[in-house]
Amino acid sequence: MAVNIRKHRGVVSGIFPWGTSRRYNAYADYLKIRFGERLQKVIIDAGFTCPNRDGSKGYGGCTYCNNDAFTPPTGRSDQKIREQLESGISYLSRRYGAQKFIAYFQPYSNTYAPLSRLKKLYQQALSHPSVAGLAIGTRPDCVDREKIDYLETLARDHYISIEYGLESPYDSTLEWINRQHDFTCWEEAVAMTTGRGMDICTHIILGFPGETREDMLNTTRILSSYPIDSLKIHHLHIVKKTVLAKKYQEQPFPLFTFPEYMDLVVEFLERLNPRIKVQRLSGETQPGMLIAPQWGGLRADAIQRRLEKELEERDTWQGKIFDKNNIRNSIFTDKKIYKEY
Ligand code: SF4
Repeated sequence: MAVNIRKHRGVVSGIFPWGTSRRYNAYADYLKIRFGERLQKVIIDAGFTCPNRDGSKGYGGCTYCNNDAFTPPTGRSDQKIREQLESGISYLSRRYGAQKFIAYFQPYSNTYAPLSRLKKLYQQALSHPSVAGLAIGTRPDCVDREKIDYLETLARDHYISIEYGLESPYDSTLEWINRQHDFTCWEEAVAMTTGRGMDICTHIILGFPGETREDMLNTTRILSSYPIDSLKIHHLHIVKKTVLAKKYQEQPFPLFTFPEYMDLVVEFLERLNPRIKVQRLSGETQPGMLIAPQWGGLRADAIQRRLEKELEERDTWQGKIFDKNNIRNSIFTDKKIYKEY
């Protein structure tokens, strides 16, 4: 990996392979470069549910899940898509001066419906003149070839990102958090989506009690060997009104302190394939919903700044010790979709 770094009077600067001076491949920077301006996500609640809640896979959901806790109150399922977009766009353009937006179908599983319903919802969002594309959060067991074929047609004219929740590549953890799907299911969804003109994003949570630090660093090696385009990294946090909250209150288990998490994320990023863009570096809940860890009330933007400082102080960056041999072992290698830096 070529890194064009300069040192002047002790200050390190330069351009990393992803085209910016930030020490990790930030998704926000990628969107700015790709679209020539800042894009904001407008959250849409289209009234979906989830197979892990309605009984088709399970009841009660993943143990850490409380959708109300991580969805800002801008998207409301009782409002039409157009109304949600109008109110989100008006708020975000006032706050950030943004002109272009991604309609983000976020709460629950946003491909969990017949294709005819999905078409209507996605087309409504894309018909708004300020919407440049869609981000669709879902479970890997909620897609099939027909849905992916349809999204591929949308991706010819629009930016489409599909986000597959994985949370951990270890089946023992997936069982512990009651995900009701295994790692192979995620692999199959990624294989089905690869090479279809869409961005593939994956969600991961670091800090499950059954995983060692070495396991979590191995997670970055595993993910780096798949053709995913971006990653959302969350720390395990305990949210009110969840099964995990009950477990934690009955029998508390260790959670990361802030310095421990910073240390882990730096090492995680050092091993991460530099082509994978990072969308999030920590989890976040709505005010008043968090049980632990509190970390002095630090919010995601402050955590990001602290991490950037940490990368700078350690003079390190995403992919610094990424092992390309990972890719050669991947079952996806023959798809030749890797752009190597
Ligand atoms: S985290 Fe996602 S998959 Fe799990 S219960 Fe919540 S909405 Fe369903």
